[in-house]
Amino acid sequence: MPEIDGIAACRQLKSHEDLRDIPIIIVTGMEEHEHLEAAFAAGATDYLTKPANKRELLARVRSAMLLKQEMDRRKAREKELLELTEKLEEVNRKLHLLSSLDSLTGVANRRYLDEYLAKEWKRAVREGTQLSAIMIDIDFFKAFNDTYGHLAGDDCLREVAMCLQGLKRRPADLLGRYGGEEFIVLLPETGLIGAAAVAEGMCAKVAGLGIRHEQSAIGDYLTISLGVATISPDLEKSSKMLIANADKALYRAKQGGRNRVEEAEML
Ligand code: GH3
Ligand code: MG
Ligand code: MG
Repeated sequence: MPEIDGIAACRQLKSHEDLRDIPIIIVTGMEEHEHLEAAFAAGATDYLTKPANKRELLARVRSAMLLKQEMDRRKAREKELLELTEKLEEVNRKLHLLSSLDSLTGVANRRYLDEYLAKEWKRAVREGTQLSAIMIDIDFFKAFNDTYGHLAGDDCLREVAMCLQGLKRRPADLLGRYGGEEFIVLLPETGLIGAAAVAEGMCAKVAGLGIRHEQSAIGDYLTISLGVATISPDLEKSSKMLIANADKALYRAKQGGRNRVEEAEML
């Protein structure tokens, strides 16, 4: 070959993305046989000795083409499989997200809350940071349902959830529905002062929504009570202590007259 030899030509073709799969049959003179090894290493698939016999050449080309077609089919199948796998992963991600959400309010459900708490607990132990929780319960909600009906109660739960969701301060803060008309906010890397400030904001904001609640014993509008707890997680403590403490503080907020925030002792 003029200018470049067969081996260099082979290498050039193989280095080009679109040409890489083209089969190459080297036609060599007898005296070049020692170069064959280098030709195969450079990507040649087959060889013929000069002068090439027409029948033999055609047969070799045909089998090279068959091999190439089979390779193309296999690559197409692999690509298809890869696309399917990606779609499946996407569907799985969506499914996981859906299975993490409370169907009524759209905030995190209890299952995801537990998962998130366990994860953040471990992180806080590792990094020596504080972890806070706000336990929230709607005041006189049974009376709300009895007065306005269960469907209005559901709408109210949605509205309160949306309002609380809008008051989270950090991306790592997670609001979830803990049960019936109870919500929790988990606040990683947050101390009692910060968590209490978030809770006070939530308490005021919900009271300010102006949701009529004529049967509430403390006013004409819907309110919430909140309990805040903070813990410095370590191996001797458990995340249950954090939730139990927030719950105790919430109980005191109820006892103290509702529509208020109570803070638990630091753990
Ligand atoms: P307190 O101020 O002491 O919290 O009084 P409360 O009436 O809110 O407390 P209680 O636990 O007695 O009542 C909770 C009510 O929440 C009872 C239940 O019917 C209602 N509830 C729980 N889940 C749902 C729900 O998904 N939809 C509706 N509409 N109501 C719910
Ligand atoms: Mg309750
Ligand atoms: Mg309640």
